[in-house]
Amino acid sequence: MKAKAAVFLGAGKPFEIQEFPLPRVEPEGILVKVRMSTICGSDLHTWQGKREAPLPIILGHEIVGEIQEIGEGADRDVLGNPLAKGDRITWTIMASCGKCYYCQMKQLPQKCLYLFKYGHESCQNPPYLNGGLAEYIYIRPGTGIFKIPEELSDEEVTPINCALATVVNGLETIGIELGDNVVVQGAGMLGINAVAMLRERGAEKIIALDIDQQRLKFAEEFGADEVINVNQTNPTETLSLVKDLTGGYGADVVIEVSGSPGVISQGIEMLRVGGRYLLIGTVFPKANFMLDGYVVTTKTITIKGIHNYQVRHLGEGLDFVIRTHNKHPFNRLITHRFNLQEVDQAFALSASGQAFRVGIVP
Ligand SMILES: [Zn+2]
Ligand SMILES: [Zn+2]
Repeated sequence: MKAKAAVFLGAGKPFEIQEFPLPRVEPEGILVKVRMSTICGSDLHTWQGKREAPLPIILGHEIVGEIQEIGEGADRDVLGNPLAKGDRITWTIMASCGKCYYCQMKQLPQKCLYLFKYGHESCQNPPYLNGGLAEYIYIRPGTGIFKIPEELSDEEVTPINCALATVVNGLETIGIELGDNVVVQGAGMLGINAVAMLRERGAEKIIALDIDQQRLKFAEEFGADEVINVNQTNPTETLSLVKDLTGGYGADVVIEVSGSPGVISQGIEMLRVGGRYLLIGTVFPKANFMLDGYVVTTKTITIKGIHNYQVRHLGEGLDFVIRTHNKHPFNRLITHRFNLQEVDQAFALSASGQAFRVGIVP
């Protein structure tokens, strides 16, 4: 049996539909039939040539699928739920070795020295099927797997193993306290998830910034108290609006999820004395920004960055969606659907900014 996949051959080139043999399932491995993948900002960066990828590659790492074949010892998920053929599952975006310096000594399995990331590795060698833009994907040992309850739709679950789990890690890392006033720079998938989760974690005022009105509307629907279209205000006005909305002091926390390094210095200016700044969106090289060290010291600012997440963050994200999917319209964030043959169109639409999240249903 063979599986079709949309293979990326380099920026500016069309995707090529290729066929790969289904891999032999090793112990602890799982073969999954892909139900849906969504195009993430990172996929777009690769497609646009903003960051390098090992070619040829099957992109797509926000995936939901159903079990086709279970390897020996992979019959339970992280929570102990039994797994069987046909069950829908989500899984961590990466597999860690569990043995290296970062896995064992520094509690950073998300930065494992031998990290494997779905949708980020070449498809040149077996088991080939490493990404979501395919009919099947092979899940390796070292991946955190969660069974998906029936009440959740594919649309609600597909983006959680990248966008939402990353946000969970971010909020834990920067430490959200009850009553924090928080600015979210960027109301894309990460930003919307951050807004929803900040609300649940007891943030006082949530202010979302973006250049797109549709995104800001989503931000309001997911719980933002105030939204500012930074295309319609100049930087000085934006800064004074944020100050006014935070009692004249500035925000306790500012979260960068826009992927635009240009917004960082302004975000740091929005902080109160002793404020915390969290960098999530700069996941491509040369994301340089200018910063006045004087401001960082005299305002006693904390700046933190995060990348990827740990298994528990995905578990927490899944729980969050189970608890709140009747309250938040997660379904509607997937605004368009395409099949594998239409992947070029899907990426073009995604890059145009006309869609919120684009789903590929193979
Ligand atoms: Zn992603
Ligand atoms: Zn490791």
